[in-house]
Amino acid sequence: MEEKILSFDVTLTGAMIGVVDETGNLIFGEKVQADYVNLDRPQIIASLKENALRLLEKYNLTLDEITRVAADVSGFIDHSMGIVKWIPLLSNFTEWNLKADLAKAFPGKETFVLNDGFAAALGEFWAGSGVQYDSILFYTLDSTVNGAIISHGKLTIGSRGFAGAFGHGLNIGHSNVPCVCGLKGCLSTICSEQGIFKFIMDEFKNNPSHPAAFYFNNVDLEKLDSGVIYDIYKKNNEPNEIYDLVKSALWPVLKHMAIMFMAIDPDAIIFSGSIARMDDLLIHLIKDALKELTFERFTENSIVEQAILGPTAAMIGAGYFALNDGMVD
Ligand SMILES: [Zn+2]
Repeated sequence: MEEKILSFDVTLTGAMIGVVDETGNLIFGEKVQADYVNLDRPQIIASLKENALRLLEKYNLTLDEITRVAADVSGFIDHSMGIVKWIPLLSNFTEWNLKADLAKAFPGKETFVLNDGFAAALGEFWAGSGVQYDSILFYTLDSTVNGAIISHGKLTIGSRGFAGAFGHGLNIGHSNVPCVCGLKGCLSTICSEQGIFKFIMDEFKNNPSHPAAFYFNNVDLEKLDSGVIYDIYKKNNEPNEIYDLVKSALWPVLKHMAIMFMAIDPDAIIFSGSIARMDDLLIHLIKDALKELTFERFTENSIVEQAILGPTAAMIGAGYFALNDGMVD
């Protein structure tokens, strides 16, 4: 029987729901809005099922045609058991056996649960910018930071399941900024999109004659985003002052990439998320950081690429995870 995987990319504000076939093709994928922060578990499951059935019908598919069901969520997951161990600030997700609840909602289907960063990485690896590589280091740079390691075709899950949780811990930037997880200086806080704007605003506030401030004179700093920074950088012929400013803002995550690059020796670093709107500026920053922090002879041909699947990556990757039996041998 031809495989069709029903995929849920669950976020706090709803879910992307889709069906992936065995070649990595997304047959359909749609965003459904819901307030999963304030719903209890039976309500979340009911919402996922109701919307899935509605969309299957809309796209002329039946539940009988679905062979497997996969869901990805943020946070720390026990991937072998399919249990969501902990998502900071989301008590209704703590120690949730989501795999079992999905199995009850979709009887007869094998169910799988994985971290959303893993899912996005697997999607790009299977059907996106990572297809030609065997080993990739993947970063999601968005309102949080997340990532994954795929080495020689295998997702590195880790013994506890959080091998790619790049967003929390370590305090690489030696920062005092608290994170929702309880630690300080986490990449998810200081190198998220909001984190880097706060960094830039603080730089200009603390030093009104900052060499890059001139370029932002006519910009409402409250409305700053990665696209705006990139536009200003391009319109002004790529001034070093903006390059250096963004480099300082992103330095902790750039350093993290260099550490991981040395540890894993991947074919490519692939990044996605809203900060990816900085496009070639970000590629230059990553390549220069690798050059500065590691051995040039290893990094001179390093490949740094932007992800191409956008918000559909996680649904596709969750499908890949399910198709490969949860990536277990
Ligand atoms: Zn944290």
